[in-house]
Amino acid sequence: MEEKPNVQEEIVEEVEETVEDTAEEIIEDEDFELPKLNLPKVDLSKIKLPKIKLPQFKKSESAPKQTKRVKLKKSAKILLAVIAALILTVVGMLTIPGMVDRSNLKKLGYSEEAIEKIYELKWEGMILEGSLYSDNLNNSITKESFRKEFIDLYLNTDSLTNDDFLLYSKLILKGYEKSDVLSMFSALEFWEMTPLLVFDYVEDVTAYIRDVDTHRVVNSQSAFTLSGNYITYYAETEQTENQGSIETMVNKRYYLSSDYVPGSLENMSVVYASKGLTLNAEAYEAFKQMCDAAKTAFEAKNPVMYASSAYRDYTYQADLYDTYVRRYGEEEADTIAARPGHSEHQTGLTVDIASTTNGGLSKFGESQEYQWMLSNAHKYGWILRYPEGKEDITGYSAEPWHWRYVGTDLATKIYNSKLTFDEYYMLYMVD
Ligand SMILES: [Zn+2]
Repeated sequence: MEEKPNVQEEIVEEVEETVEDTAEEIIEDEDFELPKLNLPKVDLSKIKLPKIKLPQFKKSESAPKQTKRVKLKKSAKILLAVIAALILTVVGMLTIPGMVDRSNLKKLGYSEEAIEKIYELKWEGMILEGSLYSDNLNNSITKESFRKEFIDLYLNTDSLTNDDFLLYSKLILKGYEKSDVLSMFSALEFWEMTPLLVFDYVEDVTAYIRDVDTHRVVNSQSAFTLSGNYITYYAETEQTENQGSIETMVNKRYYLSSDYVPGSLENMSVVYASKGLTLNAEAYEAFKQMCDAAKTAFEAKNPVMYASSAYRDYTYQADLYDTYVRRYGEEEADTIAARPGHSEHQTGLTVDIASTTNGGLSKFGESQEYQWMLSNAHKYGWILRYPEGKEDITGYSAEPWHWRYVGTDLATKIYNSKLTFDEYYMLYMVD
């Protein structure tokens, strides 16, 4: 074994340094007085230090030990790898398809929040299977107002309101197939579908959509005319549910019983009506206010309009209708007068209005009073019952003179909806 040549010298140097350091420390101490010592001079380099053996391993001795340890590690590694592979397989089976689904949903265009919600509803399979994406669903699904029962509607439309949900439900209730309703919602405007609630059941929805599309340029919310004939008047009739209410519906479907007489009829003053007319008290009060307001609006001294017809009883209408049938036949008579029980005049809530300045009832549509009523009547609870351009829905030729009292709340709602009362009633007021 070889001895390291410089170890001894290093140790000597270290001892010398330590002695010097200690001496300096002692000298720096102010209170310390150096004792006088007579120490023999020592030549440190001549001191023999014991030989130090440094540990060294022969390669031949250490090698086998290391090989043994590696061998143990290898077998453990294989075992660990097998376990890890098993765990990964199990975890992977659980998580990887989920991760793939999520990234596919993201590829379709769904936001992170929307994806969360889709998983919460367990819709990921359905959506991915059909590659279903809509901006509307993506934007709506995280909102509190989201209604999951209308998933198909969300996927088929750009935006939805509560009115859409209602219309959708009503069309389903009327017997339309879900796929047909969805086709309509994709192709048509809201007001192009509401007439269907009044119409007979349309067998060929595709043809209806085509018909609407053909007339789209001419039609608007204030007019809706089609080529097809979608309603058979008086084919399906039933007694109206709420006769006696100011919100009651009377048309070619809903009728009043033959013995119905309004409970609170009042005689109308000749200031506001032709002689001998009666009207429901509440409607009469509102009518007077409206006539006075019109007079004020035109800065007139005298009334500018009056009722030329108001309440008419069942017998009156029966006689009128019979006269027309005898003269023109039933088909023609139905286009001129309502069948008994189906006349709104029997409600006591209806007036035919004439202008005092413009030649009476038949010319009322051309009068300034009519124009004024179109934008003001609803404030007094009155609605135009048979507007021009809505003949196919109401079943009546335009009657600018025929106005119906429904109260200011309902009149304002109908006015704002731009729907006929018939459509409004079927959509919002009847189950
Ligand atoms: Zn009338």
